[in-house]
Amino acid sequence: MEKDILKVLITEEQIRQRIQELGEELTRDYQGKDPIIVGVLKGVVVFYADMIRQIKTPCQMDFMWISSYAGTTSTGNMVVKRDIGSDIKGRHVLILEDIYDTGSSLDFTYRHLLSKEPASLKICTFLDKPERRKPGITLKADYVGYTVPNEFVVGYGLDYNEHYRNLPYIGVLKPEAYGA
Ligand code: 5GP
Ligand code: MG
Repeated sequence: MEKDILKVLITEEQIRQRIQELGEELTRDYQGKDPIIVGVLKGVVVFYADMIRQIKTPCQMDFMWISSYAGTTSTGNMVVKRDIGSDIKGRHVLILEDIYDTGSSLDFTYRHLLSKEPASLKICTFLDKPERRKPGITLKADYVGYTVPNEFVVGYGLDYNEHYRNLPYIGVLKPEAYGA
């Protein structure tokens, strides 16, 4: 696994530091609001588990699972595979995402949750890759861990063909690892 990594973009220590900072911000911003934190599966699980423990005010957890129905890349044709279980009407909701790339997933998730009439709806993404954004997607992430260059990254929950999610850092794969 490690041998397939060309370079480390964000180290474990940098991740830990940034999540602590975000945690302080979120703890302040959500004080007394009892937010529902919605994670978008499955890339978010590692970030989610670390992030939630730095939010030091009462909150609730929920998850949704979406997928695009035409293959593996972001096509914009998204469906809800598993919806959230809680009633979010009138509640403060924070979406947690692994990466904001073309924006198709986040845009879909945002609209889907907005239609359930939450009191507020904000976005916290661990990574933001603004160079890849599809034209017309104007959502702004309210909280961003790190902005990354236009490279395909793995680790810390992010996969290539379902592998590398368990790497503790964010890295870039060697071209050979894609079978190139
Ligand atoms: P979107 O393009 O809709 O913003 O992102 C859709 C999904 O594609 C993300 O939630 C993530 O799972 C995956 N994705 C986007 N960019 C990357 C990347 O650089 N590396 C990995 N491993 N997955 C990515
Ligand atoms: Mg994903």
